[in-house]
Amino acid sequence: MHRAHPAGPRHADVLPAEHPPAPPADLNSLDPAIWPRGARRVDGVLTIGGVDVRDLAGQYGTPAFVLDEEDFRGRCRDFTQAFGDQAAVFYAAKAFCCRAVLRWAAEEGLGVDVCTGGELEVALAAGVDPAMITMHGSNKLLSELERAVATGVGHVVVDSFEEIARLAYLTEERDGLTAGGRPAADRNAAEKDGAGRPPRVLVRVTTGVEAHTHEFVATAHDDQKFGFSLSSGAADEAVRRVLAAPSLDFAGLHSHIGSQIYDTAGFDVAAHRVLELAVRIRAEHGVHIDELDLGGGFGIAYMPEDDPADIKEVAQGLHDIVRAQCAAAGLEVPRLTVEPGRAIAGPGTVTLYEVGTIKDVDGLRSYVSVDGGMSDNIRTALYGAEYTCALASRESAAPPMLSRLVGRHCESGDIVVRDTYLPADLAPGDLVAVAATGAYCRSMASNYNHVPRPPVVTVRDGATRVLLRGETHEDLLSLDEG
Ligand SMILES: *Cc1c(COP(=O)(O)O)cnc(C)c1O
Repeated sequence: MHRAHPAGPRHADVLPAEHPPAPPADLNSLDPAIWPRGARRVDGVLTIGGVDVRDLAGQYGTPAFVLDEEDFRGRCRDFTQAFGDQAAVFYAAKAFCCRAVLRWAAEEGLGVDVCTGGELEVALAAGVDPAMITMHGSNKLLSELERAVATGVGHVVVDSFEEIARLAYLTEERDGLTAGGRPAADRNAAEKDGAGRPPRVLVRVTTGVEAHTHEFVATAHDDQKFGFSLSSGAADEAVRRVLAAPSLDFAGLHSHIGSQIYDTAGFDVAAHRVLELAVRIRAEHGVHIDELDLGGGFGIAYMPEDDPADIKEVAQGLHDIVRAQCAAAGLEVPRLTVEPGRAIAGPGTVTLYEVGTIKDVDGLRSYVSVDGGMSDNIRTALYGAEYTCALASRESAAPPMLSRLVGRHCESGDIVVRDTYLPADLAPGDLVAVAATGAYCRSMASNYNHVPRPPVVTVRDGATRVLLRGETHEDLLSLDEG
């Protein structure tokens, strides 16, 4: 049922594809599991949120990311409703981060996860309540920790022994100032700017559980940079040190097992191992964990055969797992937290490109070049990601043409969609849309070849608004000090 993701580099660049995928029955159809909820064909033309893609291209140019606001908000609500009052949902901002979407997430009742000072500043600028921000990162800068403490960030997920010591130092210093050495007026000021409460501390543990995904995306092997290893005892030691620091407020444990996870099996094993640590913590320190954060990684459909479980089932499954394991271990049930990124931001966005050239290569396939590429979507080149695309500016009754959608960068690996079918009458000037590009595309975009990064435009009820403006050559030149 769940398809495996490609395990390594493929050799289709040097060998003809032996088994090209079968052409779809209908090149014009839009699979609702893959395209934004507000995507339709109206008189053959793709519209999103009631806006015709030809108008979007005319107004904002191409490439452009087009984000369906109702889709994004709807997925936030799906998560909060599915997980219910006994859980908290935090949007992982690294999937796509700008002020508007963080505000939407907050308005829909989600918290926000940040993993750098940059993402933290966006969340603060968006007006997200600092108490609803969780600070992640495997090497948080001292300045970032300082800022997190000063602004009253709700949780910090600690990831190394050095960081525990740094955070203990910063919070001690802060407590010293607010409790004793500082005049009341300053104390009030500190509380007003958010420094009223120290962050609660979650200890990130690596469980050794590997999610169903490509090796470069998984983050829960023991042999990797994130978290404290359970198997080596480092996680037990980290909890010991947090509890020993009087200025640190231990909240519980955190585990993130990977990405593009389609069912709850991996979470089951991870939760089991994390709760074994919770049992040891109770035995050694007499302390129980208030919070259990099982991370993100909820998968989405990029291709017709992708079949992620419904989020209601996932939520029910995770609650059942945690309750059953706590009952078996005699633990109080901690508050559950999940941190979806891709599953919130991914499906509601498409990338709109204009076709520039079409080359029929040795009768193998057509190379369709568009006006963007690896600078706006690195995922195909980075880890063999697969995407669905379609002719967007019109429909066509022409037969399917085996195609590879490529960019305009100076790399033969500059591929956006490796294997796809487009209609044989495709022509320069046509618009092609690539589905499900909302997560880890704009946020991983680069200026390779001095290509400006595209705008992100949101659509809702027939209206459009720019969330991130597109860069210009002047923007890029302005960094150049000559
Ligand atoms: C990346 C990440 C997430 C979000 O992952 P998705 O696959 O986008 O859901 C959540 N939590 C942590 C700690 C992460 O590193």
